[in-house]
Amino acid sequence: MVESKTSNKISGKILEIQRMSTEDGPGIRTSIFMKGCGLSCTWCHNPESISFKSELQWMKTNCISCNICIDTCTHNALSSIENEIIIDRNNCIACGECVEECPSAALEMLGQDVEVEELVQEVLKDRTYFEKSNGGVTVSGGEPALQANFVVEFLKRLKQEGIHTAIDTCGFSSKESYKKIMPYADLVLFDIKEINSKKHKEFTGKANEKIFDNLKCISDYAENNKMELWIRTPLIPEATATNVNIVGIGNFIAKNKIHAAKWELCSFNNLCNDKYERLGKKWDFKKYGLFESEALEHYTKLAKDSGVNPDIIISSGSTKVDEIQEVNKNNEPKPVDYCKITGLLD
Ligand code: SF4
Ligand code: SF4
Repeated sequence: MVESKTSNKISGKILEIQRMSTEDGPGIRTSIFMKGCGLSCTWCHNPESISFKSELQWMKTNCISCNICIDTCTHNALSSIENEIIIDRNNCIACGECVEECPSAALEMLGQDVEVEELVQEVLKDRTYFEKSNGGVTVSGGEPALQANFVVEFLKRLKQEGIHTAIDTCGFSSKESYKKIMPYADLVLFDIKEINSKKHKEFTGKANEKIFDNLKCISDYAENNKMELWIRTPLIPEATATNVNIVGIGNFIAKNKIHAAKWELCSFNNLCNDKYERLGKKWDFKKYGLFESEALEHYTKLAKDSGVNPDIIISSGSTKVDEIQEVNKNNEPKPVDYCKITGLLD
């Protein structure tokens, strides 16, 4: 990722600012999603954050089929088939002219460059929430460590303001970048997805050795400094949610004495399907519903029996019990069944 320096001001490319988050660290948080990631997980819940480039997205529900965007684009990147706007991403240079001209906000440019101080002033608007809830700011992704210089300056400024800071990382960046960031982070949320390197490569595009090596480095730092490490594992149907994976990750954490204050198992949901549609991409996980609560309990128990201090293990996310109640209330068809069994049988 190229970070640009203009007049001694570092700028970074961000995807969005999400306020009032309660899932990315303690208290109420403002999460900054950086643009660009070195992994490309098949189940990624933020597909718009993977590319380092700005990307145009089209929102069908807002579109009034006026075709002004097509006439506006001088790069021959837009066309229409049966009232659907088709974006030719090879031709689109992300100039944003069509976004400006669209009369109904049906086009949006994902990814904007911001300077450190501009972003600091934006998140400071939420200071009262941080103070009342012991919350703070989390830099998430994409992968924050791939824009390390920007993130360091941003977190440094937040520390000057007395704000609690966290980064949420997939672990796939250089060790040097983590070493630069950690002195300014109160918390590192670290994803461990898959213990088997071959499968990790199949699921994410990259092997996992570098990630586990970085985890050990961050663990050492957490042990010797005032910084917490929380590990998170996404439970993904027919991917990471298997007995052998959860036990394998637990064994790794225990054997290497990883200094984690939490290991969180994050239950799958398919709420991001719309994001894929807006980007004109297909998502193979659309067919899966939520886990049965007993499946989530099963994986949690496996984790607790894996040699890791059971007191640090938690699970999060909705399960099918909630989903069925919602479905009944709306009298809608039940989503495709999944999961009670995957993992229980392997
Ligand atoms: S300009 Fe906007 S509303 Fe009109 S066709 Fe294009 S996307 Fe749809
Ligand atoms: S962003 Fe620019 S190049 Fe891309 S489709 Fe819109 S007008 Fe064309």
